[in-house]
Amino acid sequence: MTIPTEPVGSLPRPTKLQEAIAAYDAGDIEFAQLTEQQDAACRDSIERMEATGSPIVSDGEQRASSFATYPLADTLAGAGLADNLAGDGQYFAIFDDGHHRQLPRLTGGPFRYKTFAADYLEKSLPMATKPMKQAVIAPSMLALLYPLDDEIDGYSREQFLDDLCDECEKDIRKAFGAGAVRVSIDFTEGRLANKNDPRNPWTGRHMLDQFIELNNRVIDRFSPEERANIGIHTCPGGDCDSVHSADVDYAELLPSMFKMNAGYFLMQLASEADKDHVYQLVGEHSRDDANGVPQVAFVGVINPLNPRVETPEEVRDALVRASNFIPKERLGSTDDCGFSPFSIDVKPKHGSPDAARDIAFEKITNRVQGTAMASEELGL
Ligand SMILES: [Zn+2]
Repeated sequence: MTIPTEPVGSLPRPTKLQEAIAAYDAGDIEFAQLTEQQDAACRDSIERMEATGSPIVSDGEQRASSFATYPLADTLAGAGLADNLAGDGQYFAIFDDGHHRQLPRLTGGPFRYKTFAADYLEKSLPMATKPMKQAVIAPSMLALLYPLDDEIDGYSREQFLDDLCDECEKDIRKAFGAGAVRVSIDFTEGRLANKNDPRNPWTGRHMLDQFIELNNRVIDRFSPEERANIGIHTCPGGDCDSVHSADVDYAELLPSMFKMNAGYFLMQLASEADKDHVYQLVGEHSRDDANGVPQVAFVGVINPLNPRVETPEEVRDALVRASNFIPKERLGSTDDCGFSPFSIDVKPKHGSPDAARDIAFEKITNRVQGTAMASEELGL
């Protein structure tokens, strides 16, 4: 047995692809020309991720408008928005550098995904020679599509949540059905739920417990064997090299987070100031039996928001340290976040998206190497 290692999912879209997205939004090119650029970016992402030695790869989410909006729209600007949605929903997050990201707003029922993650995965799988993972969005994020206080005429919040859970379940089952070996659920709104930012009302409504309950409504539809390969990703955000909730203490999230009956957790940790504090919380609150599955904690050893490349030795040392707090048979390694959860991201601290891609592959290479070194040192 060795320490497992897995990416979160996304990579920066190449400059050429970001330009093609802008040209498509402006009406200057056809959808077929955009998909040509997406295909090229997926192929390049898979080939280069395989070259890092990573035992499990992704297509870098090169076709997705974002980790949260891929089921709803073709581009971040809202091209091809799904039925019963308008562009002007609530802020999902306001980041520390002042920029924000906004969700669409539900205007009526029924709620249906326009695109499932598997629709993209099916196109990427033939490009890969190694097993692939797929990230999907959490029901708790898409719950924010429903107006915070108002009821929609003829489509109650309960009806919406029933439909939402069905669509999220389908999203996960289709990804496994297409051939994903692992499916991780992006849950960046978990930590943000304790932010209490007056500029962003939902973050002051103590929604964490209902998020956990809603996500378990979906996760509990899967068998223990399936849930061993269903993960949860937590982070304080990662967009334009900025975060939205790093100031929220993990102690406010983790006791609740590990109540979700998922088999593994991809956790931002490399950029935490006090890592021992978090390792300790993970050791205390993660469960060796979550209704039939042990919870494996993949700790973040790479910071995708900082261009400095972590060394394999740093990765090894972080994992060896974490093993003082987390049982080593339930320890894994990952990156703190996807390298670009949103399609349009110039990666300002990296100089350009293309430079950020080069750096991302160096970082992944060192994560893989450092994880192997830690396995050896821990006698696994
Ligand atoms: Zn993240």
